[in-house]
Parts: sequence; structure tokens; C-alpha cells
Amino acid sequence: MNISIENLSKRFGNFTALEGVNLSIKSGELVALLGPSGSGKTTLLRVIAGLETPDTGLIWFDDEDATLRPPGERRVGFVFQHYALFRHMTVFENVAFGLQVRPRVSRPGKRELASRVHELLRLVQLEWAAQRYPSQLSGGQRQRVALARALAVEPKVLLLDEPFGALDAKVREELRRWLRKLHDEIGLTSVFVTHDQEEALEIAHRVVVFNRGRIEQVGTPEEVYDHPATPFVYHFLGRSN
Ligand code: ADP
Repeated sequence: MNISIENLSKRFGNFTALEGVNLSIKSGELVALLGPSGSGKTTLLRVIAGLETPDTGLIWFDDEDATLRPPGERRVGFVFQHYALFRHMTVFENVAFGLQVRPRVSRPGKRELASRVHELLRLVQLEWAAQRYPSQLSGGQRQRVALARALAVEPKVLLLDEPFGALDAKVREELRRWLRKLHDEIGLTSVFVTHDQEEALEIAHRVVVFNRGRIEQVGTPEEVYDHPATPFVYHFLGRSN
């Protein structure tokens, strides 16, 4: 799904979290949001998801104005840094939960549910873990369960907020490959927040650099790294030459 964000602003009290943000994301793109802490990245994800209403501006999903559409009607999946899996539920039940809360879709019967859960677990190669509990899995495996659960809503848009932040380098690497692979396979449109520039460089089709609620630069990783558009971007990306 194409996402078009027009002149978006969001304030919290006196604090301006987003100001005059314009951004077009093409269907199938994997876009990374970079920028210092507090620069508005998470707020943008929350606005795209419908968890925050913007003060000004519009969000288009394809050619539909989705600005005021409730979150449950947006076909948006979420993955956060701290896997929000239910600890008392098995992997199967966690993913099934995702299927049972789907908006505007009648609840699947028991057999259909089981077959869909297994399909999703197969996608993240965790069919063998269906009857395990999250505590019996590694961090990377748990995050793959979270991904399967997010995909259960058959999202058109996947939003990821520092999804691999809490994991060690090797697992992060594995999950990055996973995300890119899933992305290529199902043709999702994804937006992810990361503090890891290498991660953005490696997997994103385009990178957006935020500074104090505004966009400093948008471009392919190569464009942004090789030709920083502003002194802020240059310094933020840590160039010393
Ligand atoms: P980032 O993801 O780039 O770190 P955020 O979008 O999370 O930045 O936050 C931008 C700023 O908006 C932060 O300084 C935060 O304190 C503020 N903020 C975010 N959500 C709320 C809220 N619900 N109420 C008040 N302030 C908020």
C-alpha cells in the first residue's frame, strides 16, 4: 500500500513532536527512520497506526484519506523492541491471538485457525516451537514469533519500533535478513525505527533522517550517506572527513 503523509504536525502540550512532515512511501518499500532520541520517529509510527491523531495534516493509504480511520481498520501490524508476547500462552496461542483480533474479518473456525497459525509459523520457521512457551525460546526466536503475530492481521503496512534493539549483534543480523526476506516475499510496505545506522544502510530501501520533529533528508542509504543534505545529517551520521 502507498502511504502519503502531508504536512503533518503533532504537539504534546507545548512540545512539538512533529512539524510539517511530508513523506511518500511506495507500496513494497522498506523505509528506515533515523534521528536522535526525541526527534519524533515513534510519534510518526503511532500516527501512521492511528494511535495518535495529528493536529494538522493528512495521511493517505493509497487514494483513501485515512487520517481519522480507527487503528483497527488500518491493516497495520506492529513489532516493538520488547517483544510483547504473552508469557502464559504458547507460541501457537500467541500467534492465534493475532488472528482473533483481526479487524472486520469474521473469526476463523478452529481448524482454519490452526492451519493459519502453522502457515505463519512456517513463514518464520518456527513450526517446531508451536507448543513451547516464550521463556523456552531465544530472544531472536521470540522476536520472530512477534513478527508472525503481527503478520496475522494480514497487514498492508508493518511498523517496527527498534524491533531488534534488545538483541545481540549476531541475532540482529539474522533478524535483519529475515525482515528483508519476508519483505521481498510478501511485498509489505514497512516503516521501521532504528538507532543502528548500519542496520538502516543494510536493509532499508530508503532512509529518513529526523531532527526535532522535522525531516532533514530522505533518500536511498547511498544518497544520504554519500551526500548528506544538511550539516545536521552530516554530523548525525558521524562523518569526520
Ligand atoms: P523518538 O522516537 O524519535 O525518540 P518520539 O516520537 O518518541 O521520539 O518522541 C518525541 C517527543 O514527544 C519526546 O520528547 C516525547 O517526550 C514526546 N512525547 C511522545 N509521546 C508523548 C505523549 N503521549 N505525551 C507527551 N509527550 C509525548
